[in-house]
Amino acid sequence: MRRGDEILRRLMAEFDLRDEEYASLLSSRSGNPFEVLVATVISQNTNDRNTLRVLRRMRERLGVITPEGLLEIPLGELEDMIRPAGLYRQKAKYLRGIAEELSGGVLKEILEGDVEEVRSKLLSIRGIGPKTADVLLTMLGRGSIAVDRHIARVSLRLGISVKGDYESIRRSLMEIFDERDYLKAHLLLIKLGRVYCRPRNPRCGECPLRDICSHFLEPRNSYQIH
Ligand code: SF4
Repeated sequence: MRRGDEILRRLMAEFDLRDEEYASLLSSRSGNPFEVLVATVISQNTNDRNTLRVLRRMRERLGVITPEGLLEIPLGELEDMIRPAGLYRQKAKYLRGIAEELSGGVLKEILEGDVEEVRSKLLSIRGIGPKTADVLLTMLGRGSIAVDRHIARVSLRLGISVKGDYESIRRSLMEIFDERDYLKAHLLLIKLGRVYCRPRNPRCGECPLRDICSHFLEPRNSYQIH
């Protein structure tokens, strides 16, 4: 069995995945890709509960979260709406910029391309970084795995990636997991990072992956990341 399959098998046996634990996943259930981008921008440096609170406010105000609707919200009101998620001025500015670039059906057009084309077009938009672009692609099942801080940490500790930069980790994950499992892998590795593989004092003794984890087996040689 390939290593990625074994990791998924064990994590699936260990965890229940609940939509409400992942703001981006819950947003993707709306079938509205723009909302997934908005959720990911809002989620920077905050938790899913705060992100979902902001999204609820936006939905109450707009019904459907669209670029056009978002641009109609006065900047001060938008900032107030985002405030519970922190960095609200910066996030409001980025969201407006993204909405300007994607209004008029542009996002739908972009998503018609192949995965690398879609990714590079999204990355050319100010405010959309690799993680935001990849979260959307992951949620849409479009051939990429987004790397958040939990996934970066667990990938390095498990020895999935030996380099700590975003792109090396993403490529390593895409190699060990089957493409049809990218979303599942993304969600399960986040959960692993939240429950066992925490930044400080990871609970290795209880972790279902300890016998295949570089950090547990050879702590001196493992990459240090917090
Ligand atoms: S054994 Fe420890 S370091 Fe390795 S994945 Fe589990 S919690 Fe993380």
